[in-house]
Amino acid sequence: MNPLELFPYKLRKYQAEIIKAIMDSLTKKENLVLEAPAGTGKTICVLTPCILFAKENRMGIVYLTRTNSQQKQAIVELKKLAEKTKMDAVGLQGKINMCSLIKHLGKNISNEEIAKICSFRKKKSLEALKGKEEWNRCIFFENFLLYKEYIELNNVISAEEIYKYGEERKFCAYEINKMLVKRANIVVAPYIYIFDDFLREKFFSLFSYQPDETILIIDEAHNLPDFCRELLSFSLTMKTIKSAINECEEYGVKDKDIIDFLFILKKIFNEIDEEIDFSETNDAIISEKRIENELAKREISKEKLQEIADKMIVYGEVIADIKNSKNILPRSFLRSIGKFFNLWLSLNDRWVRIVEKEEDNLKVGAYCLDPSIASSVLNSFYCSIHMSGTLEPMDEYKDSLGIKAKLVKFPSPFPKENRKILYVEGITTKYYMGEKMVEKIKKYIEEICNLFHKNTLILFPSYEIMGRFVNKMDIKRELYIEMRKDRQEDIMEKIRKFKERGGVFLSVMGGRLSEGMDFPSEELEIVIIVGIPYPPPSARQYALQQYYNKKFGNGWKYTMEAQAIRKIKQAIGRLIRGENDRGIAIILDERAKRFRKYIEMSASRNVIEDIKKFFM
Ligand code: SF4
Repeated sequence: MNPLELFPYKLRKYQAEIIKAIMDSLTKKENLVLEAPAGTGKTICVLTPCILFAKENRMGIVYLTRTNSQQKQAIVELKKLAEKTKMDAVGLQGKINMCSLIKHLGKNISNEEIAKICSFRKKKSLEALKGKEEWNRCIFFENFLLYKEYIELNNVISAEEIYKYGEERKFCAYEINKMLVKRANIVVAPYIYIFDDFLREKFFSLFSYQPDETILIIDEAHNLPDFCRELLSFSLTMKTIKSAINECEEYGVKDKDIIDFLFILKKIFNEIDEEIDFSETNDAIISEKRIENELAKREISKEKLQEIADKMIVYGEVIADIKNSKNILPRSFLRSIGKFFNLWLSLNDRWVRIVEKEEDNLKVGAYCLDPSIASSVLNSFYCSIHMSGTLEPMDEYKDSLGIKAKLVKFPSPFPKENRKILYVEGITTKYYMGEKMVEKIKKYIEEICNLFHKNTLILFPSYEIMGRFVNKMDIKRELYIEMRKDRQEDIMEKIRKFKERGGVFLSVMGGRLSEGMDFPSEELEIVIIVGIPYPPPSARQYALQQYYNKKFGNGWKYTMEAQAIRKIKQAIGRLIRGENDRGIAIILDERAKRFRKYIEMSASRNVIEDIKKFFM
């Protein structure tokens, strides 16, 4: 069968070419990195050939997303495809979103704690079903066991629909979710189900296909390198050490090794706090053996540290179990510290040790510099398709993940004349921005906003820099400002008003407005980008650049430019979401010209005239 016969919509520009590129990679069993801008219909173009190929070759598909809304979008397209071909597809989410019992405990609960509560309750329920009198059971689990034969659900179903079904009948939605994964040939899941070793193993114990019989699709793939780095990074705070000392007292832990160790650790953290010269971003790199050397001075060798860490985990487990049986959140600070040192002792030069200060809390952590450690699992799949609107520079993406892949890029399907990108010479936020430069940039912003009554989004490099403009600007339009402390509902309300009433929105690059938010048609027509969104000069960023210099000889391009290019493309991508959308982006920094290879743009000698011409 030709994949075009399965495609459920009228084909738009470049869609046939994208489908062909995917089909080629599937046939050749090669990884594909695909950049295609918003509006190309990437999801359906990738799913159609993959479903056909998987069917013909008895394979499974795992479609990975980073957010729940992307997961919903994939399920919408799968439902459309299911009208033309038979399939079993399911959205998968973790217990944090699927467990009715745990949902009311709030989000500040770790997966480990959830697992503990769940297995304890399930055990009690199994006993109760055998006729024993038990408390702290899970009624949702019991109902699932009693009535699972009668559960009837659609062949293509989202995790939200499963949750609703479970809630209405008091069934455990997570158990239903697992049951549906077993029968599915397509699963839409969060990244973590594949890149976390433990969850991946669990997942493949349910899924009917093994990795080498599975096609992996990664949506919004530009997030993957950072996701992998974060996944393998970990930290320990002074607050946790103090809580562990209290925990020992409360639960009667008298082990001298542990008690002495915790007080020594507290002292070492205090010394680090006093001695370290923190950077502007309140962090610093500490030497590889800083903690170990300090411990050795107090006669705690590496072997002894390992022994203490193991003991802390055992005590922590017991404490968590006691808490669980008393219906208290099974959290143990001792266990957290034990696990921290277990990982700390196994580090190599692919991690950097960092100390950070957050208000009065000191944090010591290990930051993973190399995403290819987590992404090496990609090699075990039949092949992987990585897609996003912002993957350039693609060589960096591929090298960072350590994969062999074909790189393919498609242009926007919409009329070229509907979008314009300008940069302004003689302006930069490079180094410290003096008042003269602030004045110059402010003048441009005021002129544009007061002359063109079109919905305008202004993106600053940081909240600090935005703060230098906010109170000085004279903009005679309705003004909306994204504040750092805004909760999700505050920001959504501001966006709703901005879309409805119009005006000027002030926000930051990489914030909630510059990525993942849709502003179709006249909801957004002008984007002003102030400065170049290079990552801030933190200790992590410095270490990352050094590491990439050593590994690829290209630290600046791979760690600084790559991030700036993607952020600019993401921000500009908000402008054009459909055939008839029009929009102009103005970058107020002459350094933007460096990125002309990746972003089509031109210099503007008279911004106001150029904007007038564009909207004529
Ligand atoms: S069995 Fe289901 S409802 Fe019960 S605790 Fe576990 S995940 Fe939650």
